[in-house]
Amino acid sequence: MTGLFDAFHRRINYMRISVTDRCNLRCIYCTVQSMPHLSHDDILRYEEIHRVVQVAAGLGVRSIRLTGGEPLVRPDLSKLVELLSPVDSIEEISLTTNGTMLDKYAAELKAAGLKRVNISLDTLKPDRFQRITGSDKLKDVLSGIEAAKRAQLNPVKINMVVLRGINDDELLDLARLSLSDGWHVRFIEYMPFVRSAAEANRLVAIGEIMAVIQGTLGELRPCWPKSGNGPAKYYQLPNATGTIGFIGAITDCFCADCNRFRLTADGRLRPCLLEDDEVDIKEPLRRGASIEELQQLIQEAATLKREQHRLGEEPISGKRQMWQIGG
Ligand code: SAM
Repeated sequence: MTGLFDAFHRRINYMRISVTDRCNLRCIYCTVQSMPHLSHDDILRYEEIHRVVQVAAGLGVRSIRLTGGEPLVRPDLSKLVELLSPVDSIEEISLTTNGTMLDKYAAELKAAGLKRVNISLDTLKPDRFQRITGSDKLKDVLSGIEAAKRAQLNPVKINMVVLRGINDDELLDLARLSLSDGWHVRFIEYMPFVRSAAEANRLVAIGEIMAVIQGTLGELRPCWPKSGNGPAKYYQLPNATGTIGFIGAITDCFCADCNRFRLTADGRLRPCLLEDDEVDIKEPLRRGASIEELQQLIQEAATLKREQHRLGEEPISGKRQMWQIGG
């Protein structure tokens, strides 16, 4: 078998790269504790990310997703996209963003080679947006979504993290956008990074979300072929032009089909989102490690992948939160 595989025979062909741990929002479920940010020198330079991608592509990685923090707060992100898009064997570069700065950058990102975007949007209500993100930038996100569509960064997917008592009364409003506006909306189960009864109560299971939508808007029919590289399962409402996706880290564990690993902004290869195992690649990169050595480190990271995450069974040791890992 050629390509990159983990110890459980899963093919690893997808790499998520966090380009910064900084963000211009403070989402209550993501920035649960404030911690010092990385310094400029701690963060991988674009040329260093490029080198890791070249080596990873040689091993079988085909798709790259840029994330953060908020990737667009890092200056000149389109320069990174321009560097990565000609890399041999890389078929797709995509971006996960909060959308607040997309109006400005969507067209230049597209011209640089970006294929598509996922945009986080947890509410359509300005006062609630302020409560969840600590900012009044809802309008910017909505114009960012329109800019992404105009720039043909398709399909533009909208990610909503569902939080009980906070935004779970907006499920139908978001789901309806797949009917009226052809949006691709994905509902994400909240992953409690901090263990407490209050946090556990915030979780709204995918089954519950689906029942609410089907109860009012009609049967959700599975979409085939499945779109995207990831753990979402896609459905359509009757007569919809858009889709509805569900990502259930807790109640519909996605590990069996996991095809990815992560590169953190400070140069650690992280095999699993929800486990703390990491392999340092920054130090070897900075001392001029050979391609073979870098290949070995990537292979080591793949080998460290766990069969399944343990979120829900035991506390996460939580060395890092989502904004530091690159969600
Ligand atoms: N700033 C970008 C954004 O907002 O999309 C990229 C980074 S953000 C960490 C990536 C994704 O992780 C977002 O869709 C966010 O909603 C999700 N996320 C963060 N914390 C989460 C949590 N505790 N449970 C579920 N999803 C979470």
